[in-house]
Amino acid sequence: MRNVVVVGAGPAGLAAAIHARRAGAEVVLVDQNPQCGAKLLATGGGHCNVANLRPPEEWPPLFGRRGRFIAPALAFLPLESLRRWFENLGEPLVAQDGFHLFPESRSAKRVRDALRREAEFLGVGILLSSRCERVLVEDGAAVGIGLATGGALRGRVILATGGKSYPATGSDWSGCRIAERLGHTVAPPTPGLVGLRTGSIDSGLAGVILPNARVSFKAKGRREESGEGELLFTHTGVSGPAVLDLSATVCQNIPAALAIRWSAGMDAGVWRGVFDGARAGSCFTKSVRNSRERVRTAAARISGMPTASGPAVRTADVTLRDGNADAARYS
Ligand SMILES: Cc1cc2nc3c(=O)[nH]c(=O)nc-3n(C[C@H](O)[C@H](O)[C@H](O)COP(=O)(O)OP(=O)(O)OC[C@H]3O[C@@H](n4cnc5c(N)ncnc54)[C@H](O)[C@@H]3O)c2cc1C
Repeated sequence: MRNVVVVGAGPAGLAAAIHARRAGAEVVLVDQNPQCGAKLLATGGGHCNVANLRPPEEWPPLFGRRGRFIAPALAFLPLESLRRWFENLGEPLVAQDGFHLFPESRSAKRVRDALRREAEFLGVGILLSSRCERVLVEDGAAVGIGLATGGALRGRVILATGGKSYPATGSDWSGCRIAERLGHTVAPPTPGLVGLRTGSIDSGLAGVILPNARVSFKAKGRREESGEGELLFTHTGVSGPAVLDLSATVCQNIPAALAIRWSAGMDAGVWRGVFDGARAGSCFTKSVRNSRERVRTAAARISGMPTASGPAVRTADVTLRDGNADAARYS
């Protein structure tokens, strides 16, 4: 029977360990964290947005010029198989909004626990708080891994050590450096689905959400791309669905200039109506309903309305120069 060592107990490593064990291998799963799937716990705001109902042929263009790389993976694991896999784990997926697939439980923790339980049930050995330092090679073949503690584990090796995003969850790029030392080519990572740092937005707006913004970006020699939806002001710039969808393209073209229409179809007059009317605040998400005065000031500043706290400073469309990617969070 073959031994397999899987490095990284995120969703990829847990799934690999389960598959290898079902195929009959003796499997050890190693992670440097004291728990499995730390990043998985943060997914979908803790609810774990596992997939969506987009047809497979629509995926590659979303990954830029080399987007075809994703096609074989999607062909290998069609959506129906993925749904069955989660159903068998006891976490069936549902698309309550008709598009995004979440576990019925809406709990990333339950998904993480189900993966770990399945691995343990099958007899996968799980070794936590153990950092892989190198892959051991004999006669040109990988024969195991060396641990930071000085110990070694022998077997075929699967590196599932994640990308570069959110290194506090354990994905610190060390696995890719190990792969590079083995002679693999590692493509430079590009940030994607990230918030953007901007030089020209007042950090006093942090936490404010505009429900229906339109963000556009035009890279040199390419068509303008745009995203619409919620826009969230952060301490360092902007985030939210309208920005996340565009961020990969923007990050490949820094320094970049974004054009932001703060609320598609709403000019200063409409804003005035919203904030002066009896239903002020009703168009904002729950998280900002309680800070109506702050939102009123924010909207006043960005839509050019006079405010009690200072002069009107912006028009409805603003161009950010010096946009910058939040490099700490890229995948
Ligand atoms: C805030 C946030 C929200 C997200 N939301 C979603 C979502 O809703 N839906 C979605 O599909 N995706 C989401 N993602 C992306 C998703 O989390 C990742 O794509 C996914 O976790 C990648 O899984 P992985 O197993 O490849 O890597 P990771 O989950 O990063 O796991 C890698 C593991 O390897 C371990 N490791 C690394 N190096 C070593 C080493 N040298 N030795 C031992 N162990 C090591 C790490 O400790 C870690 O546990 C989100 C990401 C973030 C940051």
